Amino acid sequence: MSDNLYELFQSRFPADRKNCFIETADGTKYSYADLEDISGRFARLLQDRGVRKGDRVAVQTEKSPEAVFFYLACLRAGAAYLPLNTAYTKSEIAYFLGDAEPALALCRPESEAEFTEAAENAGVGTVLTLGADGKGSLTEAASGLTPLKGCVSADAGDLAAILYTSGTTGRSKGAMLSHRNLGSNALALHQTWGFRPGDVLLHALPIFHTHGLFVATNCLLLNGSSMLFLNKFDADKVVELLPRATVMMGVPTFYVRLLAHPDFGPDACRNMRLFISGSAPLLEETFQQFKERTGHSILERYGMTETGMNTSNPLEGERRAGTVGFPLPGVEVQVRGEDGGLLPSESVGVLEVRGPNVFSGYWRMPEKTAEEFQPDGFFITGDVGKIDARGYVHIVGRAKDLIISGGYNVYPKEVELVIDALPGVGESAVIGLAHPDFGEAVAAAVTLDGSAEVDEKAVIDACRQQLANYKTPKRVFVVDSLPRNSMGKVQKNLLRDAYKDSFTA
Ligand code: ATP
Ligand code: MG
Repeated sequence: MSDNLYELFQSRFPADRKNCFIETADGTKYSYADLEDISGRFARLLQDRGVRKGDRVAVQTEKSPEAVFFYLACLRAGAAYLPLNTAYTKSEIAYFLGDAEPALALCRPESEAEFTEAAENAGVGTVLTLGADGKGSLTEAASGLTPLKGCVSADAGDLAAILYTSGTTGRSKGAMLSHRNLGSNALALHQTWGFRPGDVLLHALPIFHTHGLFVATNCLLLNGSSMLFLNKFDADKVVELLPRATVMMGVPTFYVRLLAHPDFGPDACRNMRLFISGSAPLLEETFQQFKERTGHSILERYGMTETGMNTSNPLEGERRAGTVGFPLPGVEVQVRGEDGGLLPSESVGVLEVRGPNVFSGYWRMPEKTAEEFQPDGFFITGDVGKIDARGYVHIVGRAKDLIISGGYNVYPKEVELVIDALPGVGESAVIGLAHPDFGEAVAAAVTLDGSAEVDEKAVIDACRQQLANYKTPKRVFVVDSLPRNSMGKVQKNLLRDAYKDSFTA
């Protein structure tokens, strides 16, 4: 057996390959035998089209069982799987294809013409299509082929995937992930979350991102059990299907939307054993409301494209709202201060991570890679946080979001917590804007929930009573909604752009 991740999965497939692997919302079922057959034929097609070990294969498709099988086909063929966000536009696609130079690309039938143009400019040899219904030139061309037996052998350090980061803080970077990175992380999560035969995962996340692709899918593949597969999050559908599920993985927005659904309650959760949240901070308010409504404490965890998952609240033991729990088995987390020294517990600084989960570097960005690693192998996450006296990791924000106003550091989350607690406020995002005197001044974008009258002056007055003057927003902008990407992350760069001249014009 080689270190190809697919072999690890295969060694854990159920003895009876007729067991269900994926069931879609319309009730179509795919067994483990289907998984082996379809991914084997796709892998054979990749080889026939000249894809060799180490080649990149770029994918921009809708979510479907066939798209999952195509990911597994890339592993089996020894190619590096490179998924692209379905929201990317033609010019972004042109950039990513030019950057990654894939040997083959897979796109949606409806955008084939414009995708093919970008692919031709990037020198991509073959473009195939796959629709949300599982049909397309990929499926057609693979239909008569003999499935590849097993998979191409791979070393633990060989490239399994290149995953572009979400682009929350700047241009997306391609994180190079090996078979070891993905396999070790899946095993650690499998153990930490106590996956067991018979678990049914409700999968409503996109599969172009580490969360839905690796965290959810890889965990399940180690478990040999099944998933209920929704093409996208739809609260009505989730409430309908939840009684058949035991585990759900989501982003905070999912839980907020479920709480807003009139039929969501203990009955819908009757077989659930675990709700997991990540990719963005879960508000303590959401955690508490969810617990009151369902009796379940959402388990919050913390991860990144570059590392997979780093920490998780415990399965047994106290899940603490506002924290992301303990480092996973094999993962080390430390906190570094501004002077370059390591900090003791309870002190806030930049989180650093080391372990078998941590990527080897950014694709074709050696300087950026060197900047983000310490000499002893710790990856500098760019997240600001602390480890409390009980060992729970807390995330306070991102180093890039840190505001320096009149020489003082302001962590946006501290201000957001004050604003979010005000009657009438839905949620807030605090940003720094260029200011002629202070360098940067604190400003906030807030949404209103209609429960009380609140305006700019009321927010500023309330903050002034609870926060030091330099932390108090100088401007408050009322917005209909905060800009978020598909993973539920607030895009502060868009807010900073929108209000950039507020103090300088
Ligand atoms: P980019 O690196 O391109 O700016 P990004 O960091 O948003 O984008 P991802 O790798 O998708 O791209 O997201 C990882 C980040 O998401 C983490 O570094 C952290 O800031 C945030 N995150 C993940 N889980 C949590 C969580 N539970 N609480 C708070 N933040 C989280
Ligand atoms: Mg990042």
